[in-house]
Amino acid sequence: MILGCFNQLASLVTGTDIIYECRHCGVSVDEQTLTCPECGSEEIAQYPLS
Ligand SMILES: [Zn+2]
Repeated sequence: MILGCFNQLASLVTGTDIIYECRHCGVSVDEQTLTCPECGSEEIAQYPLS
């Protein structure tokens, strides 16, 4: 259902219009996260929502 997708997106962005994601494994992280909780990479990518 579409509503499920919206809820997922809302939990990802949590009030911002930027998505933070690990460059190494692709997991979504919080804005303040500097190190990926999954793989330990410090390369966090930022994607503006368009
Ligand atoms: Zn990672």
